[in-house]
Amino acid sequence: MNNQQRTISRIVEYSGVGLFTGEETKLRFKPSPANTGINFIRTDIASHPKVPASVETLSGSKRLISLEKNGVGVKSIEHLMAALAGLGIDNIEIEINGNEVPAGDGSSLLFTHLLKGAGTKPLEKPKNTFYLQEELKVSDGDASIIALPYNKGLSLSYILDFNGSFLNRQCFEIEMTENNFSTQIAPARTFGLSTIIEEYKKQGWGRGVTDENSLILHEDGTITKPISMTPAKLRFPNECVRHKILDIIGDIYLTNLTLHARIVATKSGHFLNTCMAEKIFESSKKQVNN
Ligand SMILES: [Zn+2]
Repeated sequence: MNNQQRTISRIVEYSGVGLFTGEETKLRFKPSPANTGINFIRTDIASHPKVPASVETLSGSKRLISLEKNGVGVKSIEHLMAALAGLGIDNIEIEINGNEVPAGDGSSLLFTHLLKGAGTKPLEKPKNTFYLQEELKVSDGDASIIALPYNKGLSLSYILDFNGSFLNRQCFEIEMTENNFSTQIAPARTFGLSTIIEEYKKQGWGRGVTDENSLILHEDGTITKPISMTPAKLRFPNECVRHKILDIIGDIYLTNLTLHARIVATKSGHFLNTCMAEKIFESSKKQVNN
């Protein structure tokens, strides 16, 4: 049964504010048949255009993940994608009446609870499983991701290092299982560096940021809430490195594959994560063609 594609058992809904735009959108999650994948439906546009979540519709990976098809976009999908990956959901339709997925609490916890509450059910087709056969590497300066063959599932490790400021070096490694994802990764919230606050304000970004949906790291090592700047209570002592793994899980799921590989990441962000997702996707295509 674990090898069967999955969808949700019943319709569930959630409304909330997008981190970037500050606009409220409503999501409606609906079961989907096998081999239809993860699809956003923009219900605020008359023709209800469909935007599939895949590396082929990826349109931006700076700070957040954006998708676009025929000029219609959806952004900030990464924490929702991580929840779908974590719960092994292959097929789902997500109606959205705007262009940004709500932030929830800045982690994948809300989506994980919501989708677990909907229940998942197996479909009649096997999952699109891919066993990576070759070593893949992407890098940008001192940031890198290596993907290695590994036949026992998906293993992820991450080294977070700001060279002495903001945080002491954090390392974390985890085997991807539904339970590990739900308890160890999903609750980890997004964070930003205090040095980018001014740029965000100037550009008008982050209008939906609240004390409840993100953390701010300061150069002296303190971690505060973003608006009140009062000390933040962490959910894990190494919550930040866990969130970086959450982002990788969501970004790599743009391949729409159940991946067997060992991912070793150092200081990577959405840009490198999606470069790796594209490489994995290409590698899977090669294997199918051989
Ligand atoms: Zn994130």
